[in-house]
Amino acid sequence: MRLLVVEDEEDLVDALRVGLVRAGYAVDVAYDVAQAQEKLQVNSYDLVLLDLNLPDGDGFELCRAVRRAEYGQAVRILMVTARDRLDDRVRGLDEGADDYLVKPFAFPELLARVRALLRRDTGGTSVLEVGELRLDTARFEAHRTGRQLHLTPKEFGVLHYLMTRPGHVVSTEELLEHVWDEHTDPFTNTVRVTVGNLRRKLGVEGLIDTVIGKGYRLREKT
Ligand code: CA
Repeated sequence: MRLLVVEDEEDLVDALRVGLVRAGYAVDVAYDVAQAQEKLQVNSYDLVLLDLNLPDGDGFELCRAVRRAEYGQAVRILMVTARDRLDDRVRGLDEGADDYLVKPFAFPELLARVRALLRRDTGGTSVLEVGELRLDTARFEAHRTGRQLHLTPKEFGVLHYLMTRPGHVVSTEELLEHVWDEHTDPFTNTVRVTVGNLRRKLGVEGLIDTVIGKGYRLREKT
C-alpha cells in the first residue's frame, strides 16, 4: 500500500516516514500543496495523510480537488492537523476526509487509523485469507498452513497487494506503484527479485504464477 504524506514539518515527516516504512507501507512525501498536486497527478495512492496548514495553501482545497476527482483517483484521506476545533473537524469530514486526527498524536493511533481506512477495501477486517495463506496487517504477520513466514516489509507489501486481488493478474508497474515509492527506478528488477524471494519463503511451487508479458497472479485456491 502506498501513502502520500502531505506535511511541512520536517521532523514530523521524518518520524512518519520511518514508522510507516517499518510498518510495510511505501511512502512519498509532499511538503506543500503544489508538490502534492504534482504527485497526485503522476502516482496512484491508497491513502493521503493530509496536513491542513501548508506553506502555499490550505489542505481543505486539496481535499476538495481530490473529491472532485481532479487526479482521477478515489484516494482515501486522513487529515492530520493541529486544528483541533470542533468546526474544523466537522468541516474536514464534510469536505471529504475519511478520518481526522488531531496533533499531537501517538504514532500507534495514527497507524491504527491508517489500517482502519485501508481495510475498508477488504471488508473491514485486518486479516486477509486466501487458501492456505493468512495475512494479519495489524500484527504484520503472514502465515501459510499455520506456519509463520518471515517477510521483509516489501515482501509483505507484495503479498498483501496480491492477496487483495487473488486470481487477477497484477503487473510489475502496478506493484511498483503500490508497494515501492517514487525513488524507485522504474527499470529496476527489484519487483522480480522480491517476488522470487517471496516465492522461496512461501515454500511451495505455483502459488504465485508468472503470466509472461503481463505480471503475476496469486492462485485463488491454494
Ligand atoms: Ca503544517
